[in-house]
Amino acid sequence: MFAFENRIWDRNETLSREDLESLQLARLRQTVERAANVPFYRNALARARVTPKDIRSLDDIRRLPMTVKDDMRNNYPLGLLATPMEDIARVHGSSGTTGKPTFVAYSKGDLDTWAGLCARFLTAGGLLPSHLVHICFGYGLFTGGFGLHYGVEKVGAAVVPASSGNTPRQIMLIRDLGAQVLVSTPSYALNIAEVARAQGLGPDDLPLKFAHFGGEPWTEDMRIRIEKELGLLAFNNYGLSEVIGPGVSGECAARNGMHVQEDHFIVECIDPDTLEPVKEGEGGELVFTSLTKEAMPVLRYRTRDIACLDRAPCPCGRTGVRMGRIVGRTDDMLIIRGVNVFPSQIEEALLRVEGAAPHYVIEIDRPGSLDQVTVRVEVLPESFSDKMSVMQILHDRIDREIQSITGIRVKVELAAPQTIERSVGKAKRVIDHRAAKPV
Ligand code: ADP
Ligand code: ZN
Repeated sequence: MFAFENRIWDRNETLSREDLESLQLARLRQTVERAANVPFYRNALARARVTPKDIRSLDDIRRLPMTVKDDMRNNYPLGLLATPMEDIARVHGSSGTTGKPTFVAYSKGDLDTWAGLCARFLTAGGLLPSHLVHICFGYGLFTGGFGLHYGVEKVGAAVVPASSGNTPRQIMLIRDLGAQVLVSTPSYALNIAEVARAQGLGPDDLPLKFAHFGGEPWTEDMRIRIEKELGLLAFNNYGLSEVIGPGVSGECAARNGMHVQEDHFIVECIDPDTLEPVKEGEGGELVFTSLTKEAMPVLRYRTRDIACLDRAPCPCGRTGVRMGRIVGRTDDMLIIRGVNVFPSQIEEALLRVEGAAPHYVIEIDRPGSLDQVTVRVEVLPESFSDKMSVMQILHDRIDREIQSITGIRVKVELAAPQTIERSVGKAKRVIDHRAAKPV
């Protein structure tokens, strides 16, 4: 049924709903107790008039206060520790995509839990102890590099901790050492594919068979493109530093959504405006509560990431609810003449147009009272022409495709090959000029 053997790392991944829920409830109570050691949560719990004893069923989670990114910032740098500083084994930070970084801390136990979570999704995505894994996530405060590194080691596979940058050298290492598995952001994989192609290397010249991508939104069309160019099977994994880092959820061989590791995290999907749960299967903001974290438990952390949840059984046997692709962050959502648009929808449109390269930026401005969106997209070298009429046809096709997927018209600008900056980690695709202006 699958392209490779469906192996399961941990039997907790296949717990029955009943067993899973009773484990979740016991762990949720412990988490609330632990969180009450932190002045911030103690106050928030007091304001919400909840004590650990009030948590009698999983539904009682809705009585708990929510936590947002600003709570992390206001307790900068390490005000949310639930354990003494001497129990901390490592500190990481969010990449600061949307402002000042926030720090997160791990106990020894947390590091072990985290490696196990990564080992689960890596195994789900085909990793074997005999594999060599090339990691080009940045090693540093960003949770991607070290998170995946220890997950790979936990499985018993070997790691090449290449870190990010210097793409020709990455390709040389992948080829010379013979890595079967690539770990990176999807946009960086695209960059690798492009540089390889420029060196005259096709998919058969690279030893890669599997890839694990995460850290940024990407579309199904992007998966198809990267898989073809690098000759591998690509898997999606999701996480964020405030919750633990990568390992919150990941795809299995069915590649139809990412199984949330529900024995370690409770996930809710809410309407970001009303904060009420969305209807089953509808898109909403994901909210996570950690169940096993020691150093920095989180209660109902609002991720600002929008996705939907699917509770249907999965052929792989894992019972964790599956989350769909992240369609975007609430902060990246564009509201154009009343229509909500995510950058990922624009990517979807661009990748459907032959001749458009998968390299683009979206600029938002507000010259008057309305938002104006400009999509600047590179033209593939083989489709680039100095004939205006040829470029106009491509321009109009892109325009129509964006309109048909998003329902809005944007300004399309074609850019010459190699003129849009390539990503070495998380791609910065949305440039919002509105924020810089006084209101
Ligand atoms: P920052 O919020 O500063 O980028 P992190 O490094 O913790 O901090 O990144 C976490 C964020 O990255 C998530 O909240 C999400 O927006 C994004 N992300 C991570 N993995 C994925 C994925 N597989 N698909 C889409 N977005 C992802
Ligand atoms: Zn599955």
